[in-house]
Amino acid sequence: MTKEISRRSFLGLGAAAAAMGSMAALSGCTPKTPDASLSETGGQDTGEAGTSWLGTEPEIAEGDITSTEETGLLIIGAGTAGLAAAATAADLGLDFMIADKNTMVQDTREYFGAVNTKYTKEAGQEVDKIRTMNEIARYSNGRTNRAVLKVWLDESAECFEWVDELVQKATGKELYLEIAPDLTDHGYFAPTVNHMHAPYYSGVMRNEVLQQHIEEAGQSIAFGYELVKLVHADGKVTGAIFNTDAGYVQVNAKDGVLLATGGYAANPIMMEALQPNVSKCVTANSYSMVCDGSGIKTALWAGAAMDEVPCPMIFNRGAVDVGVDAGYIGSGEDAIFPGTIFQLNMGSQPFMAVNRKGVRFTNESLPYDNICNASAMQPGGVWCQIFDANAPEDIDRFAQAGCARLTTDAIRKGAAIDDLCASALEPGIMKKADTLEELADMLGFEGDAKQAFLAQVERYNELYDAQQDEDFGKEPHRLSAIRKAPFYGCWYGGSLLTTIDGLTINEEMQVLDTEGNIIEGLYAAGDCSGSLFAGTYPEYVVGLACGRSSTQGRHIARRIAGDL
Ligand SMILES: Cc1cc2nc3c(=O)[nH]c(=O)nc-3n(C[C@H](O)[C@H](O)[C@H](O)COP(=O)(O)OP(=O)(O)OC[C@H]3O[C@@H](n4cnc5c(N)ncnc54)[C@H](O)[C@@H]3O)c2cc1C
Repeated sequence: MTKEISRRSFLGLGAAAAAMGSMAALSGCTPKTPDASLSETGGQDTGEAGTSWLGTEPEIAEGDITSTEETGLLIIGAGTAGLAAAATAADLGLDFMIADKNTMVQDTREYFGAVNTKYTKEAGQEVDKIRTMNEIARYSNGRTNRAVLKVWLDESAECFEWVDELVQKATGKELYLEIAPDLTDHGYFAPTVNHMHAPYYSGVMRNEVLQQHIEEAGQSIAFGYELVKLVHADGKVTGAIFNTDAGYVQVNAKDGVLLATGGYAANPIMMEALQPNVSKCVTANSYSMVCDGSGIKTALWAGAAMDEVPCPMIFNRGAVDVGVDAGYIGSGEDAIFPGTIFQLNMGSQPFMAVNRKGVRFTNESLPYDNICNASAMQPGGVWCQIFDANAPEDIDRFAQAGCARLTTDAIRKGAAIDDLCASALEPGIMKKADTLEELADMLGFEGDAKQAFLAQVERYNELYDAQQDEDFGKEPHRLSAIRKAPFYGCWYGGSLLTTIDGLTINEEMQVLDTEGNIIEGLYAAGDCSGSLFAGTYPEYVVGLACGRSSTQGRHIARRIAGDL
């Protein structure tokens, strides 16, 4: 299996997945490695325990620079954050340049979190900003820099309304506001922040609209520009050096360099060093292959600090066959997760889940990565989801939030379970049987595990009948009976999307060094930046990752232009 074929379905819903432009983007991805010193480890070790993944900053002799360009603001990365920065810079007449190592803009992420937009207000869904702030900080166990978070809380409405106008004008798509469900009965707060453009994942997407907007302003994106190091001295960044088809190009940036190079999920060496839990519970690759942490490394070489607590974005949808364990296959930079289905959306429905011993081990109705983290402590790091022929009614009653709701919406429109799960049923990864005994055999439960599994189903049915989960406290409306054939079962691990721990920044997105000083001339936005998340992604603040990335990118351009 190559990395190129590994990233397929974000939605895990056949038709919607097929519609995603994201897959096309990957085939156009040709990240280049300039020389041996820039390979993932560089073959070098800094000598400090646990930092061999960082390698050392490459030496590039002046004579090896084939050309030098001058600009005002240099934006590196044409994804969510970088495009918002560049399109804003174009609007405000800034002198800027945007560069990306790929041959096209990054995939658009549809779910966009914005606080108190005109749409939210019109729908009578005004969000309590302080409550939202405290909720996000609770997920990070207090590590959220509230000043950094406030930029999203205060400016995301303006940012979304700006981009929405561009998208609606260019595509004719309509705005869809997702009204958040009331989750208070299981202890989470879900503010209504998620905005999307319908029809989802089809036609011209937001990132292409922004690209077009930049081009209409007479600018173009410098594709095939791979950042290899920053130009820096005495705590100040003045430019960057790129590897291009024409050799090394140095770009001097008098107004600063913005790193918008994404996370490091596609760098298994960094992942294993910084996020050991991931290899204990992830089975599938949903990340973008271009997000390899190379931008983060350049800033660390220039003296930047990075979050100390990692934060992966993991969804509970990495469907795998019987007997497959979570964790990387292979080692080094080519290591990859075993799953061939990258997201089966059904995995996010809170049906009964058991471990390889046939027993429940967690409340299945929590943020996506909760069951993944719990499964890291179970045999093989995987769990098995079970449901029956009543699944459509169950899913309707579960009323999930965020992208798990894609299954809900499809069911409400009359989709059949077998169609929604075709990508897993057809290759035999999801099992379907007329009796529970038969299902248990197909799922690999043998001996004591089979008896435990059958007893667990009985117990779960009792909990459903009593409408009270005495074992794990799942909300009554998310319990379901398992009595009506056909019965379905499927093993899952987590699917890794991205990483959202990154470079330490302040509220102006200026990168800080290890002593908390501003590194002059260096900004970071989006997944390569940190200071917001730790341990887990605040899943019920739907679209926060994309919303904050865009808002941060736009903020930097507005600040430099004196528009804030
Ligand atoms: C499949 C998937 C679906 C998601 N869906 C959602 C969603 O719906 N809502 C949501 O809120 N979040 C979603 N996320 C998370 C969200 O995508 C990110 O948090 C956000 O888009 C990050 O934006 P970014 O600008 O930091 O990075 P990206 O948008 O990933 O852009 C990074 C860019 O940097 C470039 N780059 C990297 N290294 C270099 C280098 N060395 N030199 C030059 N260029 C470089 C890359 O080519 C890329 O174009 C999703 C993530 C995935 C993987």
